[in-house]
Amino acid sequence: MHTINPFPGEGPVSGNECGLNPIVDFLLQEKLLAPKQVEYATRVRTKLETPRPLLEVLKELKLIADDQIKKAVKDSRISMCIGNILVELGYIKPDDLQRALDIQAADNNSRKIGEILLEHRLIDEQVLIEVLSLQMGFPEVEPEFTEIDQALFAKAPAKWYESHDVIPIQKQADGVLIAFVDPLDGKDLEAVKQIFGDKFVPAIARRNAIKRAVGMCQSGDLKKDLAASDENSIIRLADEILLAAVERDTSDIHLEPLKNNMRVRFRQDGVLIHFQDFPAEIMPALTNRIKVLCEVDITEKRRHQGGRFCFDYPGGQIDLRVSFYVTVHGEKIVMRLLNRKGVLLDIDDISLSRRIRERFKEDALYVPSGVIIITGPTGSGKTTTVYGCINHINNPQTSIITAEEPVEYVIDGIAQCSINPKINLTFEETLRHIVRQDPDVIVIGEIRDKFSAEVAVQAALTGHKVLTTFHTEDSIGGIVRLLNMDIEAFLISSTVVSILAQRLLRKICPHCVKDYKPTPADLQRIGFSPNDIPGAQFRKGQGCARCQYTGYRGRVGVFELLVLDEQVRDAIIEQKTSQDIRRISIESTGLVTLLEDGLVKAAAGLTTIDEVLRSLPRLQKPRPLPELQRLLEG
Ligand SMILES: [Zn+2]
Repeated sequence: MHTINPFPGEGPVSGNECGLNPIVDFLLQEKLLAPKQVEYATRVRTKLETPRPLLEVLKELKLIADDQIKKAVKDSRISMCIGNILVELGYIKPDDLQRALDIQAADNNSRKIGEILLEHRLIDEQVLIEVLSLQMGFPEVEPEFTEIDQALFAKAPAKWYESHDVIPIQKQADGVLIAFVDPLDGKDLEAVKQIFGDKFVPAIARRNAIKRAVGMCQSGDLKKDLAASDENSIIRLADEILLAAVERDTSDIHLEPLKNNMRVRFRQDGVLIHFQDFPAEIMPALTNRIKVLCEVDITEKRRHQGGRFCFDYPGGQIDLRVSFYVTVHGEKIVMRLLNRKGVLLDIDDISLSRRIRERFKEDALYVPSGVIIITGPTGSGKTTTVYGCINHINNPQTSIITAEEPVEYVIDGIAQCSINPKINLTFEETLRHIVRQDPDVIVIGEIRDKFSAEVAVQAALTGHKVLTTFHTEDSIGGIVRLLNMDIEAFLISSTVVSILAQRLLRKICPHCVKDYKPTPADLQRIGFSPNDIPGAQFRKGQGCARCQYTGYRGRVGVFELLVLDEQVRDAIIEQKTSQDIRRISIESTGLVTLLEDGLVKAAAGLTTIDEVLRSLPRLQKPRPLPELQRLLEG
């Protein structure tokens, strides 16, 4: 065995069965490298100023290519120590590996090195997956319950899955596709060979994803002899679904009874994505379970119902608002995940362009009184922005009070009221009392009728700052709707300070992003000519396991800020048409439309032209990119 220390002078790492340069050793053994070449690379390496892993040096000297390494490792299905590979590739320090080995020894070698490295945060799981997939050539998969061949799964006993981080997925032409947490682990490889034979294709998946898929398959086993009466398996299934939703940062869970099965879908980044299908027989028991959690009437199956519950899971808890809706195939359940982690943002962090952000703060948020309206359709991120505003202006000298339906995030230091019509705590009742609480800032969850609009306007007239949301397409639409609610034009023009319209567009997945050159037809669809887009860097996601092959991951806000000036106020008083108000706003206030802001973000490679076209109103031709960039970023 060759023992070439990758970091001379740091002492050998002991205590595990494979060499210090497992990949190099393996390549020597496979005769893909000659000992002479390795010696040469080692000499070159000692002359380097900053120490570099030997394998890197070999690659740089063109003695071995990435593809050769990948193919050799993948085809051989040999076992190697992931710890030493990570050191060899320069991802962890020899000291860190030694620490993990010590922990392993103290545990009587009951746990794997990869597991210990992850648990002690010596390496990030994503990095580990990247090393194994990109550097070693193992495909990365997301084991989906529906794709798993249940007959294959049943080949191994339930206990077997407890001691191996593995799940078989399906038969392929070149063998059974098997997902591993660590496809180089000797014990797991051996165990797989014994059950599924020598011919298999190793792939890599996240530990949680494998555990969850195993859990699903096992509750799947149970549901055959279901066993709607088997309460424990139903409880476990409900937990599995909720946990999967939390992990994927889902905003809504849909449980839908169809003719022949039950479909589960998750809304992620604003788009419904199919999660899994289950036999239809499981739906009544699952519905009962969720009704019990919500404490609603489980015998009522013919009327719509609503409820809430709090789901505790390892690592946190989350509030869910649930709606039971009666359909011809039974009750459809939609659960909204309310206080998702990381959603309370500051106004500085919601992807407002620099100049828009400064103007919104200076000319709206910091103005002592007046109405500020955030507008957009459901799911456009209005609530997040309102909370971002509250968070930004919350301080010990300011009294902030809210009327929300319901409170979605609790913020320390402000008085939040959750409307609850069931006990007659209505919106009207609450708004009547709110001004008597001596507030500086009043947050009205939503303007939805003449009454709430009047309360907002009156509060602003008496010197309060009012923050609220509205359900309209764009900023000018907000003004028009207030006029249509029979609010006097002069009251609107003298109290409304600013309207911020917004949308959320899906962000391109950073793991599979590629440059993209729009066709002339694409440009025509968005209203640009080739001369309008100097320096634009359009991109697209190719689709990968980490974005569930959608090409998108996460979301980015797109905004249109209207700050009312003299000209716009006059136009409102004169009750001009929305086209006129829009034109005046663009000319006199520097308004950049939703479409324009979206296009600037697409040209910066944050989102795609398709997303812009799918989500933003196209009311007029956008101005050329350089002009927009100047207006937005300055
Ligand atoms: Zn991707």
